[in-house]
Amino acid sequence: MELLKERIRRDGKVRGTGVLKVDSFLNHQIDVELLGEIGKEFRRRFEGCGINKILTIEASGIGVACIVAQHFDNCPVIFAKKNQTKNIAGDVYTSKVESFTHGRIYDIILSKEYLGTEDKVLIIDDFLANGAALEGLIRLVKDAGAEIAGAGIVVEKAFQPGGDLIRGMGIRVESLARVQSLSEEDGVTFVEN
Ligand code: 5GP
Repeated sequence: MELLKERIRRDGKVRGTGVLKVDSFLNHQIDVELLGEIGKEFRRRFEGCGINKILTIEASGIGVACIVAQHFDNCPVIFAKKNQTKNIAGDVYTSKVESFTHGRIYDIILSKEYLGTEDKVLIIDDFLANGAALEGLIRLVKDAGAEIAGAGIVVEKAFQPGGDLIRGMGIRVESLARVQSLSEEDGVTFVEN
């Protein structure tokens, strides 16, 4: 998606450890107009897939997912909650995720009330790096017996293994910008497509 790539080239900031900061339009301040275009693009790519729910993970996926949902007939958005305590109460699906940005393991939980066998799910997230967050979300959907239409990712860091891992599981992954390299000196390059 050219508009997104241009924005990343212009406003993205590379941090030494292979991290791309997009705080000025996606992760802190949010450009709602850009999210609208992102929503349209995911709609175009997943048109006709029968998606009736969108699943993401707190916190940074929520804003994107809500705007994307407006392009999928205002279907409900569910976000998996990050839970640091061991006291998981009630009827929930749980899964463990190793955080790329914080380097620790945490549980994600999702109430059984909101996902079941009748659902066809589009998973949305802002970044795909090692694939741990997406893998955790996929496990929740499988536990619920729901169907996965695919994953819509805003920025895939294609030099990390997550994309291959998830596609290797037979899951359709659509990424709007695929980053080939990040460097503080040379900036961001994208995979040609
Ligand atoms: P993964 O689980 O695929 O390794 O990492 C995905 C999660 O880590 C995303 O939900 C995102 O919040 C965060 N993340 C990974 N890499 C980056 C990055 O380069 N920049 C930002 N802003 N977040 C990232």
